[in-house]
Amino acid sequence: MFTETITHAGGTSTGNASAPHVLVVLRRAVHRGCTLDFTTSGGASITWTARRLIGDNVQAMSRSITFAPHLPVAQALTDATCDDLLLIDSSRDARYDPVRRVLTNGFWRIPPAATARLRARGLVEVDDDQRVRRSLTARIGYFARGHRTRTTEPAGWQYAADRGLLTAGLNKPGRRAGMTYSAGSVALCTCGFARHAGDRAEARRHVTGHRHEVAADFARSLVAEP
Ligand SMILES: [Zn+2]
Repeated sequence: MFTETITHAGGTSTGNASAPHVLVVLRRAVHRGCTLDFTTSGGASITWTARRLIGDNVQAMSRSITFAPHLPVAQALTDATCDDLLLIDSSRDARYDPVRRVLTNGFWRIPPAATARLRARGLVEVDDDQRVRRSLTARIGYFARGHRTRTTEPAGWQYAADRGLLTAGLNKPGRRAGMTYSAGSVALCTCGFARHAGDRAEARRHVTGHRHEVAADFARSLVAEP
């Protein structure tokens, strides 16, 4: 279950949403080219600009829908848990064995304690035939975990020699004599994405662009699944 928050012309409204409902909304958002983002807790946000004709003027208003999971998965997604989820995802025939209380496909077996944890944290879903698959929050959380972004602090004023520069730096008397200024910042993502920028604002734009790009790809793969 998710808490759905919708921002519309009259303010915001909230309610509960099931995973299938989230997928329906995401499918629509993908087709309409909305801006998407996903969180490590397993949530999603959809934003777009609504244009309304008021008199002779077109007014642009930002709109959004966010889904926050009732059971956030960020803390639960440890390396070991992610390995277990990959096992489950890689097997078409993963099942829950109610007698041994394990998840298994015959070749591998996730021990009872880990199995209980995966179920209690809402990371897997077991259907009536005991078939197991990763939950929507687990898939979203796993994706977001692979794309944690940041920008580096600009170096600012530094002594030219400290930066390995041959310039003598600022040739003025005072505190900054012999120093050079660097506003440069790097946009980084845990997936390996890195982009150098002239300043931090530009680096943040690179981060945003990267997030939107990978989130759109991920959303397309989510809604394409049967
Ligand atoms: Zn990334």
